[in-house]
Amino acid sequence: MPVSDAWRERLASARDDRLRQRRWRKRRVKPSATLDFAGNDYLGLAQEPRVQNAQAEGARRFGAGAGASHLVSGHLGTHEALEAALAEWTGRERALLFSTGYMANLGVLQSLADAHTAIFQDRLNHASLLDGATLSGARSRRYHHRDGEDLQRLLARSTATHKLVVSDGVFSMDGDVADIATLARVSREHSAWLMIDDAHGFGVLGENGRGCVEGVTREDVPILVGTLGKALGTAGAFVAGDAALIEHITQFARSYVYTTAQPPSIAAATLEALSIVRQEPQRRRQLFEHIATFRREAPLLGLPLAHSATPIQPLMLGSEARVMTWADTLAQRGISVGAIRPPTVPEGEARLRITLSARHTQADLHRLLEGLNACQREEAACHA
Ligand code: PMP
Repeated sequence: MPVSDAWRERLASARDDRLRQRRWRKRRVKPSATLDFAGNDYLGLAQEPRVQNAQAEGARRFGAGAGASHLVSGHLGTHEALEAALAEWTGRERALLFSTGYMANLGVLQSLADAHTAIFQDRLNHASLLDGATLSGARSRRYHHRDGEDLQRLLARSTATHKLVVSDGVFSMDGDVADIATLARVSREHSAWLMIDDAHGFGVLGENGRGCVEGVTREDVPILVGTLGKALGTAGAFVAGDAALIEHITQFARSYVYTTAQPPSIAAATLEALSIVRQEPQRRRQLFEHIATFRREAPLLGLPLAHSATPIQPLMLGSEARVMTWADTLAQRGISVGAIRPPTVPEGEARLRITLSARHTQADLHRLLEGLNACQREEAACHA
């Protein structure tokens, strides 16, 4: 059989498996009129005219693209200014920009860990952290979700020369927050480094929006990753830490070295977004009012809320069929939510991933709650 036929057969069989499991994901162009409860624009900054204008102005000043990688000639003044602003705001010596959060996590783990390293990850960590660990060639262990004792047990058993503990700050599909103090204590006791990926907490959590590490010392969390495509409303990511650590990552992270620098217009827009995050705490207040309203009203309708105090508010529906039916019913009403199924989450834990934003109004929230109530009514009618 020609090689290409064998390949085609393999692809077809992977496709058939997915279709049989009813896990084929459809990609659709988002209708412009959608009421969006699926995105991560937590503070509404992607739609903020000052951020959009800064992006347009950045493109005019620096060009539509960087034209080269950072270490060749693509590192421009606006990248440098954004790195300095992020370092200052996170209270770290230096910060380093990456083009996406996925690339940041790959690059940080690949450049720091090797075959003599053991990496300890929360079971529910983001795919990019798991992939980064694989790429590094380190030995990987996964501890029970948010379970400091399980982590302690695994660390105590490890004979690796270097140990690295890695956790999401806010868990992206559950919305709960890592216990940073416990992670820091346990890591210190076992001479392990701690890396926190605060993709969903950065800009949102803490009195000042510094994320889940606000109020925690930089010695406790020496390696901090934040992404810019969520609360900051733009795209990209950064890793912040001491100067020697950041210089090492700059030299050795392949997803940093061998790729075109982030478009400078994005860096310019992010600088503006960061200054709004700092100056307009009312956006966070508004967001947390919405979270409180949703969590007060949803149980009155009998909706199965999860333990989350963040803008990520999953409704645990269990079966994949149920999730798809509810998401379709909401879509017919012009409301978009995340329909999250295995393999993204464990078997039997399919859920609607609802995300709230400061951009929503109280009326938007009531439309969502009405839509969810309609899902329940239709389900009850089917079973009657
Ligand atoms: N880390 C976490 C916890 C995430 O949820 C995501 C994005 N969903 C990423 C990293 C990747 O970030 P980006 O979208 O910028 O690649």
